Amino acid sequence: MKKIELHLHLDGSCDIDLASKIVNRDTYNEMVVSNANSLTEYLTKFDLPIMLLQDLDNIAEFSYMLGKRLEADNVIYAEVRFCPLFHIQKASVEEVVEAILSGFRKVKTVKVNLIFCMMRHFSMEENRKIIALTKNFLDKGVVAIDLAGDEAKFKTATFKELFEEIRRDNIPFTIHAGEADSSDSVLSAIEFEAKRIGHGIRSIESKEVVDKLVKNGIALEVCPTSNIDTNAVESIGYHPIKKLVEAGVLVTINTDNRTVSNTSLEKEYELLRDEFKFTDLDFLQFNLNAIDCAFISDVEKDVLRKQLTSN
Ligand SMILES: [Zn+2]
Repeated sequence: MKKIELHLHLDGSCDIDLASKIVNRDTYNEMVVSNANSLTEYLTKFDLPIMLLQDLDNIAEFSYMLGKRLEADNVIYAEVRFCPLFHIQKASVEEVVEAILSGFRKVKTVKVNLIFCMMRHFSMEENRKIIALTKNFLDKGVVAIDLAGDEAKFKTATFKELFEEIRRDNIPFTIHAGEADSSDSVLSAIEFEAKRIGHGIRSIESKEVVDKLVKNGIALEVCPTSNIDTNAVESIGYHPIKKLVEAGVLVTINTDNRTVSNTSLEKEYELLRDEFKFTDLDFLQFNLNAIDCAFISDVEKDVLRKQLTSN
């Protein structure tokens, strides 16, 4: 089945063999979560990838390897995200973006666009810098901006001003919300006029929030295995995805971090098929939802819809 993926972090999806080769040791345990339900452990898995994603050759090679991995998973379109300020110890943002795009371009069957992430623990000034960078790179491989990081500690509501600036600049955006924090966080994202929300699963705690998602046609970028790994849900049986779908929320399926969560879209579909009895038609709908809310033009969406349904 051909697939679309909208929520995928570059640093959480780096090739283990390549990392091991670069640092000359087995890096599996440093990159893959071993204990589901431990957010603390989950977060340590990004240290090594971020250290390696400074050198331009590494950046291009890891991007190429991720492109190959997407291709093997039958992904035809992906939006890959990262925080640009995490990767500029040795090179400029321009060089980093070009290295990433050059890696992905080598895999012809997968079209990749980039999303820049602001971080919740960053200062206003740093996040403003990321807004300015996104503005500069729009139509040059970057299609949107995101807000990532510790949601419980740095509440979504406190980013109101930044999202006003983002809207004023007409920059497409998505927001991680309703993962580590409650449905209130999703409500803030809705108030900021987000059309897409990363995770958003805790919307289920509030009928008001679920109704607003449905009424406004807001799509959720759901990442089931990641939710278990970070302890946002206890196990797949407790995942609210089915309830959200039944309530009429637009759901898309994503991996979040292919390496850290040791997953692929194929694996996520399998998990959901086993637990919730979703059918091929359901998965087709999730992919069509993803195309509808992808940060691309209507013409590009039409091309993807045709590709998705052709053999
Ligand atoms: Zn994420």
